[in-house]
Amino acid sequence: MPKMTRKEFIKFTTAVALELLLRNGEASAQVIEKKSGIPVIMYHNVTPKDSELTPEQFEMQMRVLNSLGFKTITSQEATNCLQRGELPRGRIILTIDDIANPQNYSIDRLTPTYQDWNKHMRPTLEKYGFTATLGVVTGNIPERNNNGWSWEEIRKLYRQGYEIASHSKTHDIRMNKGELPKEGFLREFQESSDEIKQKCGTAPIAYIWPFGAIYHERDAKGIYNVLYTVWEKGALIIKEQLISVPRYHPDLHKQEDDFTRTFGPYAELGTGGPIEKPPQNKFGRIRNPL
Ligand SMILES: [Zn+2]
Repeated sequence: MPKMTRKEFIKFTTAVALELLLRNGEASAQVIEKKSGIPVIMYHNVTPKDSELTPEQFEMQMRVLNSLGFKTITSQEATNCLQRGELPRGRIILTIDDIANPQNYSIDRLTPTYQDWNKHMRPTLEKYGFTATLGVVTGNIPERNNNGWSWEEIRKLYRQGYEIASHSKTHDIRMNKGELPKEGFLREFQESSDEIKQKCGTAPIAYIWPFGAIYHERDAKGIYNVLYTVWEKGALIIKEQLISVPRYHPDLHKQEDDFTRTFGPYAELGTGGPIEKPPQNKFGRIRNPL
C-alpha cells in the first residue's frame, strides 16, 4: 500500500466513515477498495451495432475518466515512472487492438475500421485530450490509402502522440492455441517490430498478444519491454524491467456507476512522487517518447 500523507489519511478515513454511515448494514461489502497501479483498458472497435462498445458507451467512459481527473500515458512513460519508483496519480493506459488487422475471424470481429476510428473513437479521445496505444497488425498495410488504414496515417497518429504497439505481423489464428511453430512466433515478434521501426522511425516497446495467447514469452521479452495480455482485470505495476500486463475489458463496465466504481479508486492513488512534465507537440498533445 502506498504511503499516505496525514491529509490523505484523514480524507481516506473520512470517505470510509461516510460510506459506512450511508450504507449502514451493507457497508463493509460496499466500501470502495483502494487500488494501486496504472490501470490499462483494452478496446477494439466502437460502432453503433455488432460491437463490443457503442459510441455512447465509449463517450461515457472517456467522460468519466476525464471527470475523475485521469490523464492518458504511454507504455514508455509508465515504464519510466515505475522504474524511478514513482506511481503517478490518475494515469491510465488506453489500448486499442487490431488496428489494420486484415483477418476477419468470428472470434475477432472487432477490428476497428478506419471509418469507425475516425468517426467514433478518435474525436472522442481528442475531445478529452486523451491519447491511446494502438495495437497495429503490421503485415498488410499499404503506404497510402484514402479509404482505409495506411502507414501514412499510422505515422501521422504516431507523430501526434499516439503510441504504436505491435499486435503481431499477421494475427495468424494458429497463435490462438500455440499451433504456430516457434519460428513463426519469432517472426511475428521481430518482423512487426522491424516494420514499425522502419515506418515510424522508432521500434515499439509494447507487444499486445493476439487472442491474449501467451507463447514464447521469453523470446518476446527479448524484443519488447511491456507485453499486454487480455481478459483479466489488473493494472500495470512494474516488478522487473520486462512485464506482462493484464487489461480491463470495457465490455464489463458498460454502466456509468459500474465504470466509475471500477476506475475511481485508481484516480487518487500513487505515491504522488513528481513526474516529469511530458514534452508536447505544437497541438498541445503529449509527444510519444518512443
Ligand atoms: Zn487481436
